[in-house]
Amino acid sequence: MTALEHCDVLIVGAGPAGMAAAVAAAPSGASIVVIDDNPVPGGQIWRDGPGASLPAAARKWRDALERHANIRVCSGTRVIAVPARNELLLEDAERGWRVQWKKLILCTGARELLLPFPGWTLPGVTGAGGLQALIKAGLPVEGERIVIAGSGPLLLAAAATARAAGAKVARIAEQASFAAVAGFAANLWRWPGKAAQSVMLADPQYRTSSRIASARGSTQVESVRLLQGGREVEIACDRVACGFGLTPNTQLGRLLGCTLTAEGAPALVVDARQLTSLSDVYAAGECTGFGGSERALAQGTIAGYTAVGNERAAKQHEAERARWSAFAAQLHRSFALAPEIRQMPQPDTLVCRCEDVPFSALADCTGWTDAKLHRRCGMGACQGRVCGDAAQFLFGWTPPAPRPPLSPVRIATLAGLVSEDGDRQ
Ligand SMILES: Cc1cc2nc3c(=O)[nH]c(=O)nc-3n(C[C@H](O)[C@H](O)[C@H](O)COP(=O)(O)OP(=O)(O)OC[C@H]3O[C@@H](n4cnc5c(N)ncnc54)[C@H](O)[C@@H]3O)c2cc1C
Repeated sequence: MTALEHCDVLIVGAGPAGMAAAVAAAPSGASIVVIDDNPVPGGQIWRDGPGASLPAAARKWRDALERHANIRVCSGTRVIAVPARNELLLEDAERGWRVQWKKLILCTGARELLLPFPGWTLPGVTGAGGLQALIKAGLPVEGERIVIAGSGPLLLAAAATARAAGAKVARIAEQASFAAVAGFAANLWRWPGKAAQSVMLADPQYRTSSRIASARGSTQVESVRLLQGGREVEIACDRVACGFGLTPNTQLGRLLGCTLTAEGAPALVVDARQLTSLSDVYAAGECTGFGGSERALAQGTIAGYTAVGNERAAKQHEAERARWSAFAAQLHRSFALAPEIRQMPQPDTLVCRCEDVPFSALADCTGWTDAKLHRRCGMGACQGRVCGDAAQFLFGWTPPAPRPPLSPVRIATLAGLVSEDGDRQ
């Protein structure tokens, strides 16, 4: 039978939101467990590795976690299932075990929205954040020509990471119009830190109203065709990194039964205290909607304080959260995806790359279940994590309902849920 651990507060996700939640909750003396599937805390923005140079803020939050003896960080740990109402089944490289919690804080972040276009499955084509993650993990890109396309400030962050690693950024193709981007920049005086950051990230290869039409190559990407303000340009390159914004990672929240927002990319609904629709489950950071690390930190702090009953301290961070929520709203308005982005896939473009399902095979499906049952869309290794988000954007289908196990799992971990007399524990 799997071991059972108890804690007062269980936090899933050790990105900015999860770290802030743990640090806020710690002075209460509550026993806190933070779990994350990455090898070290930091989440997406502060991802560590041989090619990463961690900013001071990341070190500060990591040190803060270490200073509190009542915070136990379990890195390299995945959530597998929800065996009982206040319990999660977890697994790391060595064992599977259950944790029973009194309060749960979901800080599961966001995933990149990857959208299909001709050539997107060629080797050398990745997500924009995906390229960043690879470089931070040590991928050598020195001397390579890289084209970055899609939408949002993450394109500039990915370009900066690639350039710092010695790559040549051949083009940054932003789908939003010049007016939208200029409007965004003109409003940045309200968030001076972001204004300074945007100056540092400015790039001569940045083009607006520019979107990817196709990636070409035989065994590896060799060039991209871009539609730039109505003109078509072809650019030779060794890599293409595409990001069309972020989708909240709501898998665990949905498995638990949390309510999702009805508008836009589904996110976990939270109230002013960061409480979800379930009485003892909180959520913070990008699983509640994309909004950047500062908003994630403010939300995480509020969730951490509220979970241990310190509503007064939580209130003191509401203004900060409102300030960064306004930034998030501006971001969403300025970088909303144009309807033409839906026209990127051609009939033979694969939407589900795991099961080789082309766009044309999905066009007459009535919804996700139909596509899954009759076309095998989402039945492969990613279990709909990539094509489910894409299908939602392309066809407006409700994303696939998550089912346990949430991650690939060892048989021994599952077997441990059953006692010797055959009852599930
Ligand atoms: C690929 C990518 C790259 C990005 N790069 C940048 C950047 O360079 N600059 C920038 O300003 N913003 C970047 N962002 C945006 C960034 O995610 C946020 O601004 C910030 O990191 C959000 O913090 P968070 O705590 O909400 O989520 P995250 O930082 O995403 O942290 C969530 C953590 O939860 C873990 N997790 C999720 N589900 C589970 C589970 N079931 N079990 C265990 N662990 C789980 C994840 O592995 C992750 O470590 C990036 C986003 C993505 C998706």
